Amino acid sequence: MTNPLPTGATIGILGGGQLGRMLSVAAARLGLRTHIYEPGSNPPAADVANAVTTAGYDDTAALTAFAQSVDLVTYEFENIPTETLDIIEEITPIHPNRHALGTSQDRLVEKEFLESIGLKVAPYADITDAASLEAALAQIGTPAILKTRRFGYDGKGQSRLTSPDDAATAIADMAGAPAVLEGFISFSKEISIIAARNPQGDIACFDPGENVHRDGILHTTTVPATIPASLRTDAVLLAAKILNALDYVGVMGVELFVTPQGLIVNEIAPRVHNSGHWTQNACAVDQFEQHIRAIAGWPLGDGSRYADVVMENLIGDDVNAIPALAKEANCAVHLYGKVETKAGRKMGHVNRIKRA
Ligand code: AMP
Repeated sequence: MTNPLPTGATIGILGGGQLGRMLSVAAARLGLRTHIYEPGSNPPAADVANAVTTAGYDDTAALTAFAQSVDLVTYEFENIPTETLDIIEEITPIHPNRHALGTSQDRLVEKEFLESIGLKVAPYADITDAASLEAALAQIGTPAILKTRRFGYDGKGQSRLTSPDDAATAIADMAGAPAVLEGFISFSKEISIIAARNPQGDIACFDPGENVHRDGILHTTTVPATIPASLRTDAVLLAAKILNALDYVGVMGVELFVTPQGLIVNEIAPRVHNSGHWTQNACAVDQFEQHIRAIAGWPLGDGSRYADVVMENLIGDDVNAIPALAKEANCAVHLYGKVETKAGRKMGHVNRIKRA
C-alpha cells in the first residue's frame, strides 16, 4: 500500500444521508473515523459518525474548521457548490477529484465528456430558451425528455415531451434553469455498474445490476442482470474508460440503457450508488468499503460476488413491512434510522440472497 490512511485517521464526508451513514460504518470497520458535514438536523449518518458539523455549505468558518479536523474529504452527493470545494481544497484533499465532480454535476458537460471518450449517449441538445428547444425538437424529434442541466435526481427536474406541442409546458417546467433535451431511448433494460479506482490506478468493478424504477425512484436491483456476457464485458470496459479519463479515485455508479445498438450511458454518479447496495450482502468487500479503501489508498476488493441477490428499496410506507421482512429467510434488512416516514422518502432497503 502506498501511504494508506493510518488507523485512527479521519475522513470528512459532505452530506449526512444514508450513503454517508453506510460509508461511516464501512470506515469504522477499517479502523478509520468519520466527520459528517451536513446542513440539516439529525442526519441519518450522525448516529454512526465520530463527529458531526451542522452548518450550511456557505459557512466559511465551519467549512474551514471541518477541513482542518480531517485527513481527507469525500462526499455522498454531487450537488456541492464550487465555493464549498474551494474552501476545503485549500486545506485538505477531496476524493473523487473536482474535475470528476464538476463533470457529473452538469448533464451537458457530462454528455460532452462521455462522447469525447468514444461512448454512446442519447441524442442531446443544449436548451437555453423556447427557440433553442424548437430547433432541437426539429432535429431530435419526439418522444424526448427535457432535463435541467444541474440538480436533478430521482427523475426530478425532468419534463417528457410526446409531441412538439409539449414544448411550452416543458420550458415552463424548467423554471428558467439551463437544460438539455434528450432523445428518448427505447431501451430493453436499465442496468448500472459500480466501479472503483484507487490512486495507484487499479480498477475493480462489481457485476452489473438490472434496475427497475417506480415513480422515477429505484425500486429493485437484480444481480446478475439478464444480459449477454458480451454486454457485461462492455459495461466493465466503458466504466474503466470513464474512471481512467477522469483520473478518478473512489467508487462511481454508471447508469446504462441496454439497446439493440449496445450500451448507452444515461448518467454517471461520482459516489456510492443506490443500485450498488446489493453488494453489502453478496460481496466480501461492498461498495461502501470499496470507496473507503479507494480514497484511503488501500488495495481494492476484487468485486467478485458469491450469491445472486435482489435489492429492494423501502420507500415511504414500504417500511411498515419490516416485521414481515425480518422473518424472511436470507433477507438482510438495512434501515437508515429516519424517524419520520414520508411519501417518496428512502427509509431503508432489503437484500434478498437468492443462492447461498
Ligand atoms: P435520470 O434522472 O436521467 O436517471 O432519469 C430517470 C429515469 O428516466 C431513467 O432511469 C430512465 O428510466 C428514464 N430516462 C431518462 N432519460 C431517458 C432517455 N433519454 N430515454 C429514455 N428514458 C430515459
